Amino acid sequence: MKRTKVISAFSVFFVLTLFSADAICDSTDLSSTWRAGVARMVITPEQPMWAAGYAARDHQTEETLHDLWAKALAIEDANGEQSILITTDLLGFPKALSDQIRDQLESEFKLSRAQIILSSTHTHSGPVLKDALYDIYPLDQDQISAIEQYSGKLADQIVVLAGEAFRSMEPVQIYTQNGVTRFQVNRRNNDAATLNTQSELKGPNDHAVPVLKVVDMSGDLMAVAFGYACHPTVLDGYLWSGDYPGFAQIELEDSYPGVTAMFFMGAGADQNPLPRLTVGLARQYGKELAAAVERVLEEDMRKLSPQLSASYSEIELPLNPPPSKEELLEIIQDTSAYESYQKTWAEKMLVKMDKGESFINSYPYPLQVWHMGDQIVVNMGGEVVVEYAIKLKQIFGQDIFVMAYSNDDMGYIPSVTILEEGGYEGLVSQMVYGLPGTWKPAIESMIIQEVVRLAEQAE
Ligand SMILES: [Zn+2]
Repeated sequence: MKRTKVISAFSVFFVLTLFSADAICDSTDLSSTWRAGVARMVITPEQPMWAAGYAARDHQTEETLHDLWAKALAIEDANGEQSILITTDLLGFPKALSDQIRDQLESEFKLSRAQIILSSTHTHSGPVLKDALYDIYPLDQDQISAIEQYSGKLADQIVVLAGEAFRSMEPVQIYTQNGVTRFQVNRRNNDAATLNTQSELKGPNDHAVPVLKVVDMSGDLMAVAFGYACHPTVLDGYLWSGDYPGFAQIELEDSYPGVTAMFFMGAGADQNPLPRLTVGLARQYGKELAAAVERVLEEDMRKLSPQLSASYSEIELPLNPPPSKEELLEIIQDTSAYESYQKTWAEKMLVKMDKGESFINSYPYPLQVWHMGDQIVVNMGGEVVVEYAIKLKQIFGQDIFVMAYSNDDMGYIPSVTILEEGGYEGLVSQMVYGLPGTWKPAIESMIIQEVVRLAEQAE
């Protein structure tokens, strides 16, 4: 049992010795507090399926290291404004599936896009979802059917989960604070193979551990949502798991029995947990992250006044034109330099070109801002690189929470610097995601400006 519980037990004892139970209830105006409810559901596949995130796996996954979870935190402010944070141990929701789920949440619970954060932890040991990165896995028709069946069931489960979370709402207090831990390494600017010989690690990085704590009216911890900007790519094998975020959630739920611990990914698209690739390391990083969260929980946190406002928009981010026919043929022929999925992508592009089909030249990119009291929560779709978090913190201050990998995982979102440098996050990953071209450099300023506008709108 950790200190929070001990303190809360002591506080309750102290208060009970001074006041009657009625006096305690009367002393709190329940109409002017937050209300919140949590719900959770196991989403580990029940049949063998392809695990998502790596092109190198050569067969399906059927064994489990630990269960995958979908968890929901429903929130209502003193004016009855509602919102819901849904976290899932999954790689990421493609737009069609996310739209389907968010449409269902809107029709069932009258929630707009602004009020829903549909987040994925980006574990690379969860199942492939419908229409997500199909080109990088050697899928046959039966396997695609299994993926579609799982995705349909998942959508239904998330709607049920949201209902349970809203139905279980009770008066609560909500607190936030940023902690810190440092196992992330900028994977573009440091070589994993020679890390041990480096005397310093090159950035940029964001070591923040945003923590949101929900406490019931008797002072007991009910839920903790926490984040970190680092790829859940410790593990690349054939066991279902939440990777290091899965271990962190388990660690916190063991430390605080009865608590629901929820992980959200930050802007960590260019950050890796290094070294990696063993279960022991995934567990170690999970414990390190949980320890960072526990430290924050045990110290003073900022109490949020029960006022919620949310804004959301989709902006059309511009894409460069696709490569020429000659360039595509070069990719197909140059098998030594390119992975097989790049060849598949180039072949599909050529077929489309030959048919005279047109290619998209922009993408509707989702951005979202929540104000919870004076806490700003910025939420961005896709695999966002760390420079966005750094720039947003320069504008809004170091206390903001930056979430990514939510609502739609359409590709990497590189900075201008990374677009100029190229490499995986700026160039190659566009093929993995099946996008016809690279992003135009204008995307960085467009995204930052739109977050600023949404933040003003949500005030
Ligand atoms: Zn990724």
